[in-house]
Amino acid sequence: MATSKETTESAAENRATASPPLEKPAHCLLCGQIGPVLLYGHWVCDHCKNVVHAEALAKKRQIIKE
Ligand SMILES: [Zn+2]
Repeated sequence: MATSKETTESAAENRATASPPLEKPAHCLLCGQIGPVLLYGHWVCDHCKNVVHAEALAKKRQIIKE
């Protein structure tokens, strides 16, 4: 019978959609501080952003001096 095949297919679909994507809190790539929950886990905290920015500025200044 066709009805029995339909029920098994819909049951398999329900199982596939039942588990939601894992949401893990993001960790700062540089200091490991726990940040907001993101689906992709790449995040840099404000402190490290400032540090990276300051380092980039220092390097730029060095290149200009040389
Ligand atoms: Zn950080």
